[in-house]
Amino acid sequence: MNFVFPPPLAVAVGVAGSAEYFPVHRVYCVGRNYVEHAKEMGFSGREAPFFFMKPADALMPVPEGQIGQLPYPALTSAFHHEIELVVALGQSAKDISVQDAGAIVWGYAVGLDMTRRDLQNEAKRQGRPWDSAKGFEHSAPIGPIHPIARTGVLDTGAIWLDVNGTRRQSSDLSRLIWSVNETLSHLSRIFDLAAGDLVFSGTPEGVSAVSRGDLMRGGIDALGELHVQVC
Ligand code: MN
Repeated sequence: MNFVFPPPLAVAVGVAGSAEYFPVHRVYCVGRNYVEHAKEMGFSGREAPFFFMKPADALMPVPEGQIGQLPYPALTSAFHHEIELVVALGQSAKDISVQDAGAIVWGYAVGLDMTRRDLQNEAKRQGRPWDSAKGFEHSAPIGPIHPIARTGVLDTGAIWLDVNGTRRQSSDLSRLIWSVNETLSHLSRIFDLAAGDLVFSGTPEGVSAVSRGDLMRGGIDALGELHVQVC
């Protein structure tokens, strides 16, 4: 095939403890999936799940043992962290049942759904899309992907985020409103899921702003920590 210019390289995230890479297809995100976070955003925590997407090249993979350098984005004065369990899919699926959804999970990672909250609030007020609030460059720092073959199913375990050594977010995966399998089942009715898709599963309460120089240390039991500094 003759391209008019060289096509971009595939976006890929490293596999933990391996020289292999996970090639990324799409990046889906779940809105408001922990009760206390839904409440802090002004909702009851009983709403059906909803989804938005980030472009795959908004990912900022951070290799094991390194500190990712996250540029403070333009046009915001409320750059918020959202620590999330990321689910990596290894198979395609359409209209999958909750019971069968577990079979398409390839692995898990720790991720940050970085958000220009002021732009998001303005978009909500005006009924406009969230892309400028959610889908900008480097808006999705992510640690290595841990194969489910090694971790087992993650439906419980601590999830936390510290900023400069102070705990800002702390919860447990068991407090997801919609479990990973329920989320994947819902999502597969809206979109054709494919191998390489990543799903950011939502953030617990405690979202807040970071500034240049701040060091974020986020973690999930069984997946280790993701370290990111705002620069
Ligand atoms: Mn989020």
